[in-house]
Amino acid sequence: MSSFEKKTSPQNAVLAVGSVAFDSIRTPSGKADRILGGSANYFSLAASLFTNINLVGIVGSDFPKDHFEVLRSRGIDLKGLETASGQTFHWVGEYGSDLNEAKTLSTFLNVFEHFNPKLPEAYRDSRYVFLANIDPDLQRSVHAQTRKPEFVACDTMNFWITGKKASLVKTLELVDLLTINEGEAFLLSEKNNVIDAAAAIRGLGPKAVVVKRGEYGALLFSDHGIFSAPALPLATVKDPTGAGDTFAGGMIGYIAHEDAGADLFRDDEILRRAVIFGSVMASFTVEDFGLSNLLRVTPAQVQERYRQFLRMTRF
Ligand code: AMP
Repeated sequence: MSSFEKKTSPQNAVLAVGSVAFDSIRTPSGKADRILGGSANYFSLAASLFTNINLVGIVGSDFPKDHFEVLRSRGIDLKGLETASGQTFHWVGEYGSDLNEAKTLSTFLNVFEHFNPKLPEAYRDSRYVFLANIDPDLQRSVHAQTRKPEFVACDTMNFWITGKKASLVKTLELVDLLTINEGEAFLLSEKNNVIDAAAAIRGLGPKAVVVKRGEYGALLFSDHGIFSAPALPLATVKDPTGAGDTFAGGMIGYIAHEDAGADLFRDDEILRRAVIFGSVMASFTVEDFGLSNLLRVTPAQVQERYRQFLRMTRF
């Protein structure tokens, strides 16, 4: 399967909660100040090539309103995106020569500090849920307001593993699929080998775990064994910010698009292709700063990179 057409039915929509942010980023290729980012932004824009999104989050009164139209025009519903008085979440980070590892310089939670998400009624029947990287208390609060999700996926990062581990472990009990960076998988599991780490994390709840290894690709662990996907070798990597959230967007967007219901975990065929779509989407994000490349990408380009993955890995 290398062709896909976006599914716009509410049945396939993904409910996503996460950060909508300003990011200030320095990489060896340059720097950008207060550009648009956040886990929910990257996730939704990537997933919106496959399916519609119901976005839950909060921004401050300083957030540029024209971005709302950009999101809406891609089938991202914003009834669940609150605007509060105060400042939008702001992340400040940098990368050294190892682009696989972000160093957080500051995290200003701002309006997220007192965010109490109220799910619009129409979102409560969502069958697909993505708890993007955000406070695990908020992840659970959103999950608790859904009626009967069929598939729940989650991402997180060192900030929450270190600061709110007990809460994160409770969230993981509700989750079918966790996507996580390798270093963060070690931190969460207290193991230093990826097989042990994935097994320990799966023991906390998730049926499947995807360990993301930046430019070295991703590993899927499920009942059906291990699937290893490379990352697309790229000549230009300007800014890795959002690669993980974009990966999750491609992966969960594709899973919702295929809508296999209870059959999803019967084998790992859809999950494997989803890992490739995740890798495809992430490859676009890192080629430029912030959301800029992700905003430009077309379904035809996604399909071409998917074929590139097929050619690159067949033997
Ligand atoms: P990644 O895909 O891991 O590179 O995610 C980068 C995005 O995560 C950035 O756009 C940040 O705004 C966002 N982010 C950074 N720290 C946090 C945090 N503690 N909680 C939620 N989002 C965050």
